[in-house]
Amino acid sequence: MKKYDVIVVGMGPSSIFFAYEMTKLNKNKKILLIEQGKRVEDRNCPIEKVGKCVKCKPYCSITSGFSGAGAFSDGKLSLYNKDDEDFYVGGNLHKYVGVEETKKLIDYTDKIYLKFGADSKLEGTEFADEVKKLKDKASKEGLTLIDIPIRHLGTEKAHELYKKLEIYLEENNIDMMFETKVEDLIIEDNKIKGVKIQKVNNKTSEELEETDEVYADKVVIAIGRKGANWLVDMCGKHQIETKAGAVDIGIRYELPDSVMEKVNKYMYEGKFIGKPGPFKDKVRTFCQNPSGFVSAEVYDNNLSLVNGHSYKERKSKNTNLAILVSHNFTYPFNKPIEYGRNVAKNLNELGNGNIVVQRLGDIYRGKRTWNEELQNNSVVPTLKSAVPGDITFAIGYRTMTDILQFIRTLDKVVEGFANPDNLLYGPEIKFYSNQLVIDKNFETNIKGLYSIGDGGGMTRGLMMASASGVQMARIIERT
Ligand SMILES: Cc1cc2nc3c(=O)[nH]c(=O)nc-3n(C[C@H](O)[C@H](O)[C@H](O)COP(=O)(O)OP(=O)(O)OC[C@H]3O[C@@H](n4cnc5c(N)ncnc54)[C@H](O)[C@@H]3O)c2cc1C
Repeated sequence: MKKYDVIVVGMGPSSIFFAYEMTKLNKNKKILLIEQGKRVEDRNCPIEKVGKCVKCKPYCSITSGFSGAGAFSDGKLSLYNKDDEDFYVGGNLHKYVGVEETKKLIDYTDKIYLKFGADSKLEGTEFADEVKKLKDKASKEGLTLIDIPIRHLGTEKAHELYKKLEIYLEENNIDMMFETKVEDLIIEDNKIKGVKIQKVNNKTSEELEETDEVYADKVVIAIGRKGANWLVDMCGKHQIETKAGAVDIGIRYELPDSVMEKVNKYMYEGKFIGKPGPFKDKVRTFCQNPSGFVSAEVYDNNLSLVNGHSYKERKSKNTNLAILVSHNFTYPFNKPIEYGRNVAKNLNELGNGNIVVQRLGDIYRGKRTWNEELQNNSVVPTLKSAVPGDITFAIGYRTMTDILQFIRTLDKVVEGFANPDNLLYGPEIKFYSNQLVIDKNFETNIKGLYSIGDGGGMTRGLMMASASGVQMARIIERT
């Protein structure tokens, strides 16, 4: 019988930092990490070679494999302001461990990133006066501008850094199973006993091999947003307690670097938040990538979602960022993940399975965008596989109104933000809405079953996901 002290499902940053911290705290513990995707060096996305997303089987390399969604991320590590009494980005780790402890955890995690090769330069700290002017200008328009220091790894450097961590973990006796999916949890008398696994290498879901079992009294779920569907199934099957959260639906916006010049220079990433009328939903910019590239990623059920990233060396002439609307549903509807999935599915169908792109001006003119128009557009799309069309067919009136109002308002702060040639890509949806109910020790209502990172809804970014892993190791070691 294969028995471990701790099994972790998934190998994203939260899992990696858990394992790293375990090597520091207790080398005698037998730890197994299980990941459905590949080793980091074997992960690659063919989109640049073949010009379109080919929906890799069995899993998308952008979202699965060692370092999870972190490997192809822009690698913006969001830190914090010393004087802030709350955390405004990255998730809710502080709600479980407190603000001061979260700051300490982030400092510690940041040092590990630096040790493994992160850039020592911090973005967003040099131009305090200019940032204040931007904040004041935003405030006059009813927008909040959040500024926090950011360490930018860049996509190619993130890859290198995580490779070093992969080697480190192997050298320090952390067992890792790749191309292996955790199919099910083994739970008896409300206690976790282990997991059922299935090898998935180069197999379609119809050809998968028999399942096997691995045992542990402690299992940590670290499945990221990629595992959202799986988690919904597990919660239903094993009565794991959840609470409904919001779903964030929106678009990826691409515009010239020249328009975003000041925000890019002073802050690297400007996080603007507003509540435009008439709905007053929370609308925010997210994941800004100066001189970056828009990308496509594939989730369960073959859903294509848009995202963005930027390299340290390779540059485009455009900045991209997400504009996301948070939706909280009321009685009798309580299925935010399904709602988001339906929006994505409709939009994918309109794009023949691809991401759809539309010029802002065409939305105002009430028409779709055609290929010839896109080819002559002053803003050249960086996601070549995106299909020109009409995203307003699929994104609901409320979300679309929120986005357009927000763009108009931000144009008063950043001139040119509402330029008609700017591009909207869709769908961009964040599936972190199936929130697990966990206690201060990150334990669910099932004894020995824990949750960290984005998957259970605790975090929303690299740094906080990684820090949650560090904290998980400390909890496991002391309990
Ligand atoms: C293109 C892109 C750009 C991004 N840019 C940034 C950025 O600049 N800054 C930032 O802070 N954040 C960014 N993010 C978000 C960031 O990557 C995530 O917040 C972070 O990776 C979450 O870490 P995690 O460990 O919770 O989960 P993930 O990194 O999502 O990893 C979860 C892993 O679990 C695996 N898994 C899921 N289910 C199973 C199962 N049943 N069996 C086995 N394995 C399973 C998945 O394959 C995946 O590898 C970006 C994300 C993307 C996709």
